[in-house]
Amino acid sequence: MLPFSRVAIIGMGLIGSSLARAIRADMPTVRLTVSDGDADVRARVQALDLADDVTDNAGAAVVDADLVILAVPVGAMGAVAAEIAGDLAPGVIVSDVGSVKARVLADLGAALPGVLVIPAHPVAGTEKSGPDAGFATLFYDRWCILTPAADAPEWQVARLGDFWRALGARVEVMDAQHHDRVLAVTSHLPHLIAYSIVGTASDLETVTRGEVIKYSAGGFRDFTRIAASDPVMWRDVFLNNREAVLETLGRFTEDLVALQRAIRWGEGDTLEALFTRTRAIRRSIIDEGQDTDSPDFGRPH
Ligand code: NAP
Repeated sequence: MLPFSRVAIIGMGLIGSSLARAIRADMPTVRLTVSDGDADVRARVQALDLADDVTDNAGAAVVDADLVILAVPVGAMGAVAAEIAGDLAPGVIVSDVGSVKARVLADLGAALPGVLVIPAHPVAGTEKSGPDAGFATLFYDRWCILTPAADAPEWQVARLGDFWRALGARVEVMDAQHHDRVLAVTSHLPHLIAYSIVGTASDLETVTRGEVIKYSAGGFRDFTRIAASDPVMWRDVFLNNREAVLETLGRFTEDLVALQRAIRWGEGDTLEALFTRTRAIRRSIIDEGQDTDSPDFGRPH
């Protein structure tokens, strides 16, 4: 039996539309209602037949849902929750897909007193945005982290876990603060570094912008994929996970200075030891099934 029979998704961007596609593919009997504020997006959702009902009104989308998933930027979660508060059915679970969890748990809890809120973060995505960028297998074999409050009923957390497992995800339950510290290292800092490197390269005076683009296959272009990620989404991630990001950034800055010194003083052993350790981490990610082993990210040559 399916864990939920009527699902509402608010926000039909990359993640919301991927979720809709996955539900359509893996839970065809679920009644799916979605909402989005942009008329062009709603037209695309209709043309692609991603839901049973499409509306511009978030409240109307949730009225009889037993699971509501907010798929909007982290900074918009509280306002969207307030918008649907009066329309939620008794017994509903309100969840989300935001990349930051402590702030979302607090914002949804404040906007929805007496409602069961179980935040979730599917650790899967691309640098693309909007409903055309989504695909049904996005969550397959990727982790989805649930971050319930300490008093959330265990069986309801398990029920939401079953939902994500039915879409092919692997599920982990974690405290929201811990989630934010882990993701600061594995996702938020790498994005900040990519944004920073691409910004620096385009500002350099000694190298022309044309040269940066022309010779980008030397490594730069791999950072530009991450640095092409949605600006609003990532603005909100950094503003809402400030402490964990700043702590991780402090540690990274120290390690960078240590590398700077190793280069200056010709400490080849230090550099080689680090690069050997990092190569092993890449190996572990492939062994864990979180990437393929194809060289150069599988680009044809
Ligand atoms: P997206 O493709 O840019 O879609 C964003 C969606 O949020 C659109 O439906 C947009 O509506 C809506 N939205 C934007 N601002 C809003 C506001 N102020 N009020 C109400 N709705 C608003 O973004 P996405 O990648 O799907 O990201 C959605 C969520 O998933 C974010 O919380 C993000 O942190 C999380 N997430 C993203 C990834 C990733 O790799 N992209 C991975 C995991 C989790 P319109 O159509 O009207 O613009």
